[in-house]
Amino acid sequence: MTRRYNFCAGPAALPDEVLKQAASEMLDYNGRGLSVMEMSHRSKEYVAIAETAEQDLRDLLDISDDYAVLFLQGGASQQFAMVPMNLMGENGVADYVNTGEWSSRGIKEARRYGRVNVAASTEDVRFTTVPAQDSWQLTPGASYVHYTPNETIGGLEYDFIPQVDAPLVADYSSSILSRPLDVSRFGLIYAGAQKNIGPAGICVVIVRKDLLGRAGPHVPTMLDYKVQADNGSMYNTPPTYAWYLSGLVFKWLKQQGGMPAMEALNLRKAGKLYDYIDGSGFYSNPVEKRYRSIMNVPFVLADAALDKTFLAEADQAGLLNLAGHRSVGGMRASIYNAVPEAAVDALIAFMKDFVQRHG
Ligand SMILES: *Cc1c(COP(=O)(O)O)cnc(C)c1O
Repeated sequence: MTRRYNFCAGPAALPDEVLKQAASEMLDYNGRGLSVMEMSHRSKEYVAIAETAEQDLRDLLDISDDYAVLFLQGGASQQFAMVPMNLMGENGVADYVNTGEWSSRGIKEARRYGRVNVAASTEDVRFTTVPAQDSWQLTPGASYVHYTPNETIGGLEYDFIPQVDAPLVADYSSSILSRPLDVSRFGLIYAGAQKNIGPAGICVVIVRKDLLGRAGPHVPTMLDYKVQADNGSMYNTPPTYAWYLSGLVFKWLKQQGGMPAMEALNLRKAGKLYDYIDGSGFYSNPVEKRYRSIMNVPFVLADAALDKTFLAEADQAGLLNLAGHRSVGGMRASIYNAVPEAAVDALIAFMKDFVQRHG
């Protein structure tokens, strides 16, 4: 068996240790003689698994009791709808900042539920930068302000948490748990699991408790944050196995040293890759330096005619899923927590070798 290096943007790499543990427990969890997948979500064993996962996440991000932590289905895309459904109110206005593909999708969905004000956008510069906070045209009394701290496709990451009066809502799908985060600055954070948490099928929502119970009368029961919070995310059968594996990843992160250790590692990984790209004279990345993502590193080759060859040779070299998003082309290396530094080193070595042969 050979595990290769996986740079997929999502579903993304999971830690070897986590997959090994899951494999060893596949037929018999903890001497119970059944798989976690086959357990009742109401059983004592499973409830302990679910609660431990939540507690470990709370420990990692230092989440206070003022916040509910939910494990929901429907991915981040469902949150594009749930956020306005729950927080916009009857005649409310929500402010959105547009920094790329994912914020654009959130804006489009929110418009189905009420008034959206695009407070700032960097579309005119092809989303290569973040709009300075003092340029944002915020609505006084807005229901909330929504932004995307890390644009997974463009490789654009905020280096600050916006300071706003309305509850701050963030789509943290591709950068949650990559470094320490002051949750107390937010009204709501959501993150689809399949980037930096666990397998696809689950979405983590961290919501300040005073924001619960604001859903209108026509919001489906399943999409009401308060219902989910009151029922411990088990109003119906939750995605039990994805929740379990996410919990194993939280344990693994704690063993790695938690958020400060992950931040140091992630800065090192991203730093050496960007340094090589910038100095190569062959590869390039268009994003303003201070806003370059440490999770998703897009780059293009000097000659796009070589893209196919690059991808085929990379795959041969054991470097998987380096193609950029279908909407932008080029390359993208997603280097989430579970992608080891050795993978980044191997990628840089391959890129150097490729220039030698084709540059
Ligand atoms: C992947 C991604 C999404 C969409 O996630 P789904 O779980 O597939 O709905 C939304 N926002 C960001 C920032 C993402 O990276």
